[in-house]
Order: sequence, then C-alpha cells, then structure tokens
Amino acid sequence: MHVNLIVESLPVSDQKLKQIAEETAKDLVIQAVIENLNNNWIKSSCAQFCNVRSELSVADGILLRQDRIVIPQVLREEMLYRIHERHLGMEKCKRRSRDSVYWPGINLDIEKMVSSCEVCLKHQNRQAKEPMIATDLPQFPWQKVGTDLFHFHGKEYLLVVDYFSSFPEIALLSNSSSACVIQHMKSIFARHGIPLVLVSDNGPCYNSKEFQDFAGHYDFKHVTSSPHHAQSNGKAEKGVHIVKHLLKKASEGKSDLYLALLSYRTTPLEHGASPAELLMNRKLRTTLPFRINTKQDKMSSVTVRLKQKALQKRQKTNYDKQTKMMKVLSKNDIVRVEDENCWSKKAVVLEEVNPRSYVVRTENGQILRRNRRSLLKTQETNKTLADKKGEEIPISPERVPSNMQSSSSSSVPLDNSQSAEPNDSPVLRRSSRIIKKPDRLNL
Ligand SMILES: [Zn+2]
Repeated sequence: MHVNLIVESLPVSDQKLKQIAEETAKDLVIQAVIENLNNNWIKSSCAQFCNVRSELSVADGILLRQDRIVIPQVLREEMLYRIHERHLGMEKCKRRSRDSVYWPGINLDIEKMVSSCEVCLKHQNRQAKEPMIATDLPQFPWQKVGTDLFHFHGKEYLLVVDYFSSFPEIALLSNSSSACVIQHMKSIFARHGIPLVLVSDNGPCYNSKEFQDFAGHYDFKHVTSSPHHAQSNGKAEKGVHIVKHLLKKASEGKSDLYLALLSYRTTPLEHGASPAELLMNRKLRTTLPFRINTKQDKMSSVTVRLKQKALQKRQKTNYDKQTKMMKVLSKNDIVRVEDENCWSKKAVVLEEVNPRSYVVRTENGQILRRNRRSLLKTQETNKTLADKKGEEIPISPERVPSNMQSSSSSSVPLDNSQSAEPNDSPVLRRSSRIIKKPDRLNL
C-alpha cells in the first residue's frame, strides 16, 4: 500500500494528524483492530469494527475506514463538537461526518448531540414540506442561477444561487438600487462565469431598464417569475431561507459566518456531492479533516444529474406518504412547538384529543392544542415539564371553542395569546387562510 501517498492526501494539519496517530497508538480497541487486520480477524473480537473490516486500512499509524479517519476514543468528543459546530442539523451533520471521520456509533452520537441542542432544534426546518414542483434540471453548473434580495439584522443582501449545484453566493448591499445589485452581480459573474439564464422576481432592482441593459450587455437571458406564481422563483427563495438560517445560527452561536457558509457549501447534499464539488469539481478544505480523493472525477456531472433526477422522482412519490409517517405521540413526551418559523417552545404532551391533534403544556404553563405537524418530538429532558404530573389540567372537548372542534387537522390555540397555527402544509391549506409572507417582509 502506498502509505505515504494516502497520508499526504489528508488535508489535516500535520499537528492534528500527529495527535490522531499518537492517540491511535494509545487506543486499545483500535490497536486490537489493527492487530486483527494484520493477522486473521479473530472471530468475536472487536465486534464494533468486525462488520466493516473489509473497508478498514492502516496508513502511518492511522486507521481508515475507506476515506474516513477512524477517530480514537479520547478525540471523539472534540470531533463531535467540530461536526456540530455550525449547527447544521441532524442530516447535515451526519453527511458531514461521512465525508471525514468515523467511529462506531457516530450517527447515534450525532443524533444525541443534535436532538438536545437548543440552537439546532430552534432552527430545525419545518416538518411540513412545500408542495413539490418538478423543475427542469439544468445540464451543467452555473447554467441557470436564481437571485433574490433579503434583509438580515437591518442589512440588505444579494443572493445568487446555482440551480445545478445549489451553491449560494451572497453579497452585502449598500442599497437596493439596480446599480448596486448589478455591481455585485458582475463581481459574482467574474468569479463563476456568466450564466445562460438568470431567474428573479419582479422586484424593482430587477425590473428596470438598467438591469435589462445589463442582461443584454452580459448576454444572459433574464426570466422573471410571474406575480401570481411566487413559486417559480423557488430556488432563490429556498436559497435565501438556507442562508438566513446560517446567518441566524452563526450570530446566535457567535460563530464565524464565513465558516458557516463554507460548511454549507462543502457538506454533501442528498445525492452525496456537495455544492462546492458540483460547482468547482474539487473538494474544498474545511476545519474538519477529510481525505482528498485522488480521483477527482468520482462524481461526474452526469452521475449527479442522474441521481438528482432519481431523487426528485422519489421525493415526489414519497411526498404524499410523509403526512402519514409521523409517529404518534404519547403522554409525557417532550416536544418542541412550532412558532413563527422556529421551534423555540418546549412542551410536554398531555393527551391526544383528536387523531393527529394534541394538547400540550409549555414550559411556562400555557396549554396549547397543536396538530402533529407542529410538534417535534425531541430527546430533551425537562424536569419542570415532566414533574408536574399532579397538576395536569384535563382538556375536555367543551373547553375548545366550538368552531375549532372539527376533526379537521388544523390545530388551534386554547388561549388568545397565540396566533393561529402557522403551519402551511398542503393538508392544512384548505382550512387555513394563513399566507406565507415573502421572506423580505418577515424580518
Ligand atoms: Zn446545534
């Protein structure tokens, strides 16, 4: 085995690598695994590694599982912290680790960490999905990009996102004039090239003579979404949503925004490649150790396109099933209650009053009735919530206002301090007149 070659391709600082090797030498379990690898695997020894033994190798005193570095016990906590540093949520954290590090039970450790993390839970995406729209997938990166403006903490930003790779670019604007937007867009196009198609809404900065001239001069097709069809700028809206989450989490967790952006760009998407890989055809180095695959063409555009298509198809077919897939909640389950786009309230389940409709008590004693979709089961423990057994208020149907008693799936608050339930799943849309505000008004 070309040991040196493999270790040289690890973009981990020499210092970290040295530390991993030193700790690997001291880790009795890993040493036993290496012993087993060098000889014949002794049956029933190192059970946790036995089922992946065909994927294991050793390079310069470091155990690898395929491209992933097997982290010795004492360093796992630190790695877990790094994986979770940007509060990317459960799936992203898992995908992030799959690219770099491994130890037995790593997924479970990530689950434990994320499902008890305030920041991650609060900003977890809504459980209800927007209706699926099959969009034509572009053939190659930066062929078609979406753009939108958004506000964050009193500042205005420009977002440009690639339809193919989902790679987001953001720029801080000094104002929202066409001239300013064009200036920053030119800078972005100078970096990635000029797309064939640019999709935007009908915002004033895009709907101007100046912008039209810019499109002509730079030779791209400018498509604006129809005013009655807000969905058609969905890619940029989704991009805004993602980037604002990153910004929020970075500012709440007091972490580095640029590392958060880098982290999003380098975390594999559902089909296994990251936005950066799709756009730049190489892996970018982050603060996490990972192994550069010498075969950079592992994920060709064609493969990704095929995978994207398959995923899109699968998502569409799964879409209807998802409403039924939510687990039934039991009494005393700890949940998070959806509230204005985040899951800030902790509550305990008191009872199921209708199919998929529950009465819960929040930390400050509020009694709420919520649809299952607005409740997120967590693994948090909360003494103040769980210990109040004797004080439970039985919720009889009479306490629910009569117009809210229907068995429809819409959830209703039992007190007036709560706004109507904010869920916008397709099931609820029939009975609810809540219209999702455009992102830029929501700040
Ligand atoms: Zn977190």
